Amino acid sequence: MIDERLGDLLAPLRAAPGRSAVLLDVDGTLAPITTRASDTAVPEDTRAAIAQVAARFGVVACITGRRTLEARSIVGVDGLEYVGNHGTEILRGGAEHPEVRPEIEEWEPRVREIAERLLGDASGPGAADLRLEDKGPIQALHWRGARDEDDSQAAAEELGRRAEAEGLVLHRGRMVLELRPPVPFDKGAAVRWLLEGRDVAAGLYAGDDRTDVDAFDGLRALRAEGTLEHVVCVAAVDPDSPAVVAESADVSVDGTDGVRALLQELARA
Ligand SMILES: [Mg+2]
Repeated sequence: MIDERLGDLLAPLRAAPGRSAVLLDVDGTLAPITTRASDTAVPEDTRAAIAQVAARFGVVACITGRRTLEARSIVGVDGLEYVGNHGTEILRGGAEHPEVRPEIEEWEPRVREIAERLLGDASGPGAADLRLEDKGPIQALHWRGARDEDDSQAAAEELGRRAEAEGLVLHRGRMVLELRPPVPFDKGAAVRWLLEGRDVAAGLYAGDDRTDVDAFDGLRALRAEGTLEHVVCVAAVDPDSPAVVAESADVSVDGTDGVRALLQELARA
């Protein structure tokens, strides 16, 4: 069940599903957070709700920090689009391979070289437990599940300072520090890229982390410009969520279960 206020916010989308976009973060929003990113899965009843929404709404997409192909295999629902790696690549409906933004693709070998070299050189407590995830133009340092998460975070921050000195940009998430090219991109730009040229009047975005606030801002900017008429920003809140997500959202729901209920409401004819 969803509360009345959320029901009111969803009404304009449900009234015109063909001209509405439903945009969803994956980790912590559709899939419960797991210790290892590779264990992440979307529950079967959530998949069923996504499939119903995908069949009814004009645009249904996952906007995620993961690579698009990986996100597709986690979500496992046909008919979705994916914008991955925080907006560096897009996998359009039915496409085999993602498209990458050219100005970002140029940076990929340099970011990877810096990350691998600095991690190889890193020493001190916590450094050995850092895991490097190769996301092409983004290299992500993870320390969830480290023997001492504070030590590993400190080691990641030290590595990040060195990466900044070599021209890269840092981005912080939940137990992850990303090294990125110095090219502006975020989930807000991802939303804009996805919706460009689409006949959409209303948009909903649901997410659980700081990077999702950029998507809220992106959606609201489209409304301010007159591209969208109705926007709903939903925070999926769990005990680890940064407070800024709920503070920035129009409405909060109870983690991945709350998002599933929201999708079921959208799917209801
Ligand atoms: Mg998330």
